[in-house]
Amino acid sequence: MTLKETKEIPLYIKVNPQDNVAIIVNPRGLPKGTVFPCGLTLEDYVPQGHKVTLTDLALNQPIIRYGEVIGYAQEQIKKGSWVKESLVKLPTPPELDELPLANNVPDPLPPIEGYTFLGYRNSNGSAGIKNILGITTSVQCVAGVLDYAVNQIKKEILPNYPNVHDVVAINHTYGCGVAINAPEAVIPIRTIQNIATHPNFGGEVMVVGLGCEKLAPGRLVPDGDQERIVSLQDQHGFINMIGMIMNMAEERLKTLNERQREICPVSDLVVGLQCGGSDAFSGVTANPAVGFAADLLVRAGATVLFSEVTEVRDAVHLLTPRAINEEVGRALIHEMKWYDDYLQRGEADRSANPSPGNKKGGLSNVVEKSLGSIVKSGTTPINGVVPPGEKANQKGLLFAATPASDFVCGTLQLASGMHLQVFTTGRGTPYGLAMAPVIKVSTRNALKEQWQDLIDVNAGQIATGDATIEDVGWELFHFIIDVASGHKQTWAEHWGLHNDLALFNPAPVT
Ligand code: CA
Repeated sequence: MTLKETKEIPLYIKVNPQDNVAIIVNPRGLPKGTVFPCGLTLEDYVPQGHKVTLTDLALNQPIIRYGEVIGYAQEQIKKGSWVKESLVKLPTPPELDELPLANNVPDPLPPIEGYTFLGYRNSNGSAGIKNILGITTSVQCVAGVLDYAVNQIKKEILPNYPNVHDVVAINHTYGCGVAINAPEAVIPIRTIQNIATHPNFGGEVMVVGLGCEKLAPGRLVPDGDQERIVSLQDQHGFINMIGMIMNMAEERLKTLNERQREICPVSDLVVGLQCGGSDAFSGVTANPAVGFAADLLVRAGATVLFSEVTEVRDAVHLLTPRAINEEVGRALIHEMKWYDDYLQRGEADRSANPSPGNKKGGLSNVVEKSLGSIVKSGTTPINGVVPPGEKANQKGLLFAATPASDFVCGTLQLASGMHLQVFTTGRGTPYGLAMAPVIKVSTRNALKEQWQDLIDVNAGQIATGDATIEDVGWELFHFIIDVASGHKQTWAEHWGLHNDLALFNPAPVT
């Protein structure tokens, strides 16, 4: 194939009128000497997604993107130059004790009515979007046995229960060799408890335990019901263990198979938002489109979780004013403080985020990444804060405090009751979850073209002017409803791509 000699129109995106930098849109970047229609001439080659200065910058002059300071010039930078990461001095994060609380609460957006999906009504009033048998474990020791049993169940029993989608082993690394009574152990423990009772599992809790572990299996089933537990040390040999697990699973499959989809209002949905492999386009294409869809979900009465403390921290001064009241504002600050301490204890280097891939994609530092990341939260008030691993019990936009790590965030959002996740990516990741669909949204056309069969929604068209933020936001909203109803599948579901659950355990391992 030969590349066609076409004269490309040089294109940059300036997000806010106050910005003194813009990012280059053209896929191969633009060479030195390129002249833009506005007269700006490039002093350097600038790669796609990287920043160009729109004015001369003096030493220490603020560099402004999204209308906010993302850093300070390390040296004089001439108009039209490539603003490399090394030229941007990192600003200090906002002081948590001086943040304004609930002083700029957005007016509620007009409700949108009549949107429904086909879900499974649970006896506790919640709804599921999948009909899955989840088999929880109390300790990693049993994982091999459970995997063996699940394989057998899928081969021999599941085909007899066509209304059940899957059997999923909830394996994890917790349960023993841990300081189970340490104050912070509540986080991994409640995460496992809440995943065991996830709405996609229809209340059919079942636990496989070993017998001598620190995390007693009884803590993972409602009312400590021993009928729901298979304890391996009580069985005579491997074959019996597998038989016990299969029998107990079949009893539950019979009940689950009776479940039928019924019309549920969109207000029953809990949608998680996340990003991974971000680039400089994340904040101008995919994340704003997700923000628009988040607003639509909130307007339809749903619950929307946004997360990733380390990617929110440097833009938290833009969030605390949006808290619905001072109490929620204080809860947000509490989670930030807890995380600051946690990172300090581990002597974490703030410049370690963004990742090398983020930097290659044009993100200079965590401030720029944060400003692009919080756009996902849309424009509605922040109604509540969910501590890590707790169940979300409110409607509207909630901040679920999780690390930014894709798998840890995904696991904690599942514990909070997330039915499906919307995941924006610029660099590309094939990430998926066994318990809940993950909708992948690309920030650039090139990624969608490269990963045709992994990306569900392409927001790259926004950068080239082929679609608006609203267009892609509505497309995503309808896709969410179709996936929730089982009418459409995400690519990760189609290929069966599942990452491991990854618990957040800030307590000691012994
Ligand atoms: Ca992430």
